[in-house]
Amino acid sequence: MPTGVYVRAFKRRKKLSIEHRMKISFAKTGKRASPESRKKMSNARKGWICSNETRAKMSASAKVKVFSDSHRKNIGLKSKGRIASEETKSKMSVSRIGTKLSEETRKKQSIAKKGKNFGSKHYRWIQNRNNIKRGDRSFHDPIQKKWAIDIKNRDKWKCKMSSAECCGKLESHHIFSWSENPHLRFDINNGITLCKFHHPRKKADEKRMATFFQGLIQNK
Ligand SMILES: [Zn+2]
Repeated sequence: MPTGVYVRAFKRRKKLSIEHRMKISFAKTGKRASPESRKKMSNARKGWICSNETRAKMSASAKVKVFSDSHRKNIGLKSKGRIASEETKSKMSVSRIGTKLSEETRKKQSIAKKGKNFGSKHYRWIQNRNNIKRGDRSFHDPIQKKWAIDIKNRDKWKCKMSSAECCGKLESHHIFSWSENPHLRFDINNGITLCKFHHPRKKADEKRMATFFQGLIQNK
């Protein structure tokens, strides 16, 4: 082996004086490498593994730095759309256990989220409510709730069949069925207040009673 190789490598590894390093650093400040050379630098670094010492140094210096808003935005944009591996995800999840967000952060999050998942912006918002399918029917639906209360208010919170047999909770009944008449679902003229006892339990009963119920609500 030619000895010259080792000598040269040794020379290259010689540390520059602080003064010299500062000079280089000053000369470089504000200068941006061309995209081409940046790619070269990036390629040259690929596969490098930093020593623990170096990593600790990098981590410490990053902790002190406060990035500008635009830089932070850039960092955010860079990771946008990236899907973390399951391993990374579980690591992130573990590292977050027990961390409590500061009051300030929580307030910020709350403000950022306000109005974003509400009404027509809600991820499950249905534009045309007539398209709701049987399985989607919810008794917590605010429009459904309002309808039920409107019916009861109109009927003065009393079973329209009122008889000695009346018992149980008051219910707002759809005269023409909810599933078969989408256009009448929220129609106040398609509802009647009935007690648990008088509320038809069967589809056939519902149909048989429909005209009778209609007469009842028209009499008032
Ligand atoms: Zn009744």
